[in-house]
Amino acid sequence: MNARIPIHALTGDATCAEPPVLRERGQREVFCGLTGIVWLHRKMQDAFFLVVGSRTCAHLLQSAAGVMIFAEPRFATAIIDERDLAGLADVHEELDTVVQRLLARRPDIRVLFLVGSCPSEVIKLDLSRAAERLSQIHSPAVRVLNYSGSGIETTFTEGEDACLASLVPQMAQVGSAVNEPDLLVVGSLADVVEDQFRRLFAAMGIARVAFLPSRRASELPAVGPNTRMLLAQPFLAATAKALEDRGARRIPAPYPLGVEGTQAWLMAAAETMGVDPARADAALAPARQRATQALAAARTRLAGKRIFFFPDSQLEVPLARFVARELGMVLTEVGSPYLHATHLDEERALLPAGTQLSEGQDVERQLDRCRAAAPDLVVCGLGLANPLEAEGYATKWSIELVFTPIQGFEQAGDLAALFDRPLQRRARLAA
Ligand code: SF4
Repeated sequence: MNARIPIHALTGDATCAEPPVLRERGQREVFCGLTGIVWLHRKMQDAFFLVVGSRTCAHLLQSAAGVMIFAEPRFATAIIDERDLAGLADVHEELDTVVQRLLARRPDIRVLFLVGSCPSEVIKLDLSRAAERLSQIHSPAVRVLNYSGSGIETTFTEGEDACLASLVPQMAQVGSAVNEPDLLVVGSLADVVEDQFRRLFAAMGIARVAFLPSRRASELPAVGPNTRMLLAQPFLAATAKALEDRGARRIPAPYPLGVEGTQAWLMAAAETMGVDPARADAALAPARQRATQALAAARTRLAGKRIFFFPDSQLEVPLARFVARELGMVLTEVGSPYLHATHLDEERALLPAGTQLSEGQDVERQLDRCRAAAPDLVVCGLGLANPLEAEGYATKWSIELVFTPIQGFEQAGDLAALFDRPLQRRARLAA
C-alpha cells in the first residue's frame, strides 16, 4: 500500500457531453504485480516463478494461491533476509545456489522467471544481470528471464504485463521459425477458453493463430511485420509496445467479455484477416445464441441495479460496458488504476453517455463518493470488501473476476452470475 500526498485533478479529455475523467493520486488499495504469478504459473506448464523477496511476498502468494489445490506449484520465494538487507551477504551467490538446487530438483523447468519485489528493489539487486548470468550457466536446457512484480512499480495485473513483455525478446523473427502465426492473441486465458477461441477462429477460416503466453513458455510463436495482434486483456501496455517494436500491429477491438464484446472482438479479427463477414458471423451464431440465452435470467434480476467499480484489475471498463449494456445495470462510477490512451478506445465508445470514469485512486475520497452514490453492488479489492460489507453494501471481489475464466461466449453466463450472486446472497440474508 502506498500513502502519498493526495493530488486531485480533473482533466478535460472528454467531450462537452461527457463528465471529465477524475484523475487521483492518493492512497491506493491494490495488490502488487506478484499476484499475476497465481494464474501465470498455471498457464505456462514448463515455467517456474522464483520471487526474490521477503516473507511478506511469500505469504501474499501463498494466500492468493491457497484457494487452489496444486500438487506441486510452479512458484517459490527466495527470501532476502536481514543479512542480505544489511549488505552482509552476497545475494548473487545465494541466488545462484538456490537456482542450482531448484533446477536439479525440477528438471521439467525450461523457463525460469526471476521476479523482483520491493525488497530486491530496495537493495538495488540487479536481476537482469543475474538472469543473464544464470542463463549462461544453465543454457541451453533452461532460459532465465526477469521482470518486476514489486508493489513500488506494479499493481496487480501489471505483473502479467511485465512477465509477457519479458518474453517478447525471446520470440523468433518471422521468417526464421516454425510457428509463424498471422494472428497473435495476447493475454493469459484459461486453457478451456483458449481452446474455445481456437475452434471459433478455425470455424471462421483463420487457421494460423497463436497465443501469448503459450502453454509452453519455451515454444514461443514468431513475430514480425505481418503479425496482427488481438489483445485479450486490457492491461498489456508494455507487452503490446514491445510487440509493436517488433513490427506487430494491434487490431482495434473491445475485449471478449460478454456476448457483444466477444462478437466484436472475433469479428474485428475476421475483418483484419480478410474473412467474409457473413461467413464469420454464421460461424459464431450458435455459440452467440447460447450465450444470449445464458444471460437472460441474470438480466431480469440485475436490470436497474446500481454498481460502483473501485480501481483494481484494469478490467473495470470492459466489465462496466458489459454490465451496463447486456445486464442493464446503472454505472455510478467506474474506477481503474490506469486508462490506456488507445487500448480502451473501443470500450469507452460503448459506455453509456455520461459515465463517470476515474483513474488512479485516493481511497478515502472514493469511499465518500461510493457512499454518496449508494450503489446496490460494489466491485472492489479484498481490502475494501469487508468494511463495505459491514456497512451494508453487497460487494464483489475484483480478484475473482481475474481468476475465473470469464472471456468468450461460453463464459458469458458465468460472468453475469458473478455479479448476480452477491445480490442474491444479500437478498436471502435480508429475508
Ligand atoms: Fe508486499 Fe512488495 Fe512483496 Fe508485493 S512485492 S508482497 S507489495 S513486499
